[in-house]
Amino acid sequence: MSLDSPRVAYFCMEYGLDDALKTYSGGLGILAGDHLKGAHDLGLPLVGIGLKWKQGYVQQQIDEEGFQVDAFPTYFYGDDVMTDTGVEVAVTIAGDHVRVKVWKCDAYGNAPLYLLDTDLDGNPHRWTTGQLYAGPESRRVAQEIVLGVGGVRALRALGIETDVYHFNEGHALLAAFELAREKMERGMSRDEALAEVREECVFTTHTPIPQGNETHPTERLVYMGAGLGVIDQDKLREIGGEPFNMTVGALRLARVANGVAQLHGKTANDMWNWVEGRAPIHAITNGVHPGTWIDPDVDQAAVDGDLDGLWRAHQANKRALIAHTKERTGVQFTEDKLLIGFARRAVAYKRAMLIFEDEQKISPLLETGRVQLVFAGKAHPMDSSGKAIVQGLVEMQRRYPDSVAFITDYDMVTGAAMTRGSDVWLNTPRRPKEASGTSGMKAAMNGVLNASILDGWWPEAVNDGKNGWDIGSGFISADQRAQDEHDEASLYDVLLNKIIPTYYDERDTWIEMMRQSILDTRDFFSCHRMVREYVEMMYRQPVAA
Ligand SMILES: *Cc1c(COP(=O)(O)O)cnc(C)c1O
Repeated sequence: MSLDSPRVAYFCMEYGLDDALKTYSGGLGILAGDHLKGAHDLGLPLVGIGLKWKQGYVQQQIDEEGFQVDAFPTYFYGDDVMTDTGVEVAVTIAGDHVRVKVWKCDAYGNAPLYLLDTDLDGNPHRWTTGQLYAGPESRRVAQEIVLGVGGVRALRALGIETDVYHFNEGHALLAAFELAREKMERGMSRDEALAEVREECVFTTHTPIPQGNETHPTERLVYMGAGLGVIDQDKLREIGGEPFNMTVGALRLARVANGVAQLHGKTANDMWNWVEGRAPIHAITNGVHPGTWIDPDVDQAAVDGDLDGLWRAHQANKRALIAHTKERTGVQFTEDKLLIGFARRAVAYKRAMLIFEDEQKISPLLETGRVQLVFAGKAHPMDSSGKAIVQGLVEMQRRYPDSVAFITDYDMVTGAAMTRGSDVWLNTPRRPKEASGTSGMKAAMNGVLNASILDGWWPEAVNDGKNGWDIGSGFISADQRAQDEHDEASLYDVLLNKIIPTYYDERDTWIEMMRQSILDTRDFFSCHRMVREYVEMMYRQPVAA
């Protein structure tokens, strides 16, 4: 199976290909990993460009007070994970000549991943590729110089011809400046060069929260050398504003852009409507890699209509999750009681604590074990409100030691166990702040029923009461408290009047819902459909108007 496509270089700050490769933090990286795997399966000429993080993202530990402690172990990789290409390129960071070594991860054949590394003896700024999403803002710019500028130079040094440069998030934007610089070196004017660059770049935005879109004072970009001597401060302001917004810049330097779910496409269009001269923003709903995330026994039983086999396969996954939870937390769950999973980055808008808000309602359910809850999620090292959420969840495990567990250090192993072995996958973001969410897709395709706010991907899949449940009916309010109270009431209504009675009293209906969940999602929310849409809507040159 091979899909006709231009040659693509895909740039991303993080990649979650396999848990052994600690180059990811969360959803963005998992998506990038699944994109490469999808490209591999479809035979696409696509290469990934990323950074070789020496210490990856924060490792989460919990102290005696239940507080998150940030650890940064150093990772070492053998030849089975990545090999030295022998290629070295260089970039300039704050006036210093910095060498960049290129590693290769070959696990996905036609869609290899190249990782750039500054951690070389005697190298200035060698810590640039030290820690993912940590450190001062100027270091972030240095990282983006390595990713974007170093990335393009690595492609040239490796002899990889490229038709389309795909920026997955704005972090890779500086690649566009390097492409412009190359063209100017060949004699083009800056404006001609930028116009040509625009025809070669495509951009995916993931961040519906305005403050989540990275900005830098143009002075910082100038000081760090991000303009490569060709994009001066005035031009930087013209492209990205002041402070320079990476998303705005990418929207102006790409020929086409996309959001990552249909609802997010709309949100992004509204949000960036004011940006003059920007690329059109389409919507391509995310997908996940079936071979990585889906249990083949569950899938086969659903396709065959073998409901007993489906339940047996699910219970086997549930026992595996119970064992994983026991090993990691000491909490012993019960196999024949409802188990609800929730794994998200610990950040306020995801409202991990929502289910605990009404103690009178939830407490009896947890004390009798009728409801069991398993949580996971890291807070960013600098996010004290996120750390308070982690502390709250750990406190709940202490209060209900038989029915609440918090698994530390959420990663791909825990993610896979939870999205296979839970009975219900709970998702309670403040609409419309969740761009897509992919863990719910993994769950749905494993017959784990989603109970979710109508945000991100879920409005495209939900058939309330048939393949999962809608929480909150799409309600949005400018008054955050009103929205929270509304969604809380809806959550308890769904839990008490739908989920619990169906699970305990109507098992046949439940298993039929599991099957429906799988059949409704297994094809559409696969990364194969997603990558095909990228080829059709983004990579192939759009027909001239
Ligand atoms: C799937 C996955 C994610 C992304 O899930 P969201 O629904 O976007 O939160 C993040 N981290 C891990 C480890 C995953 O497996």
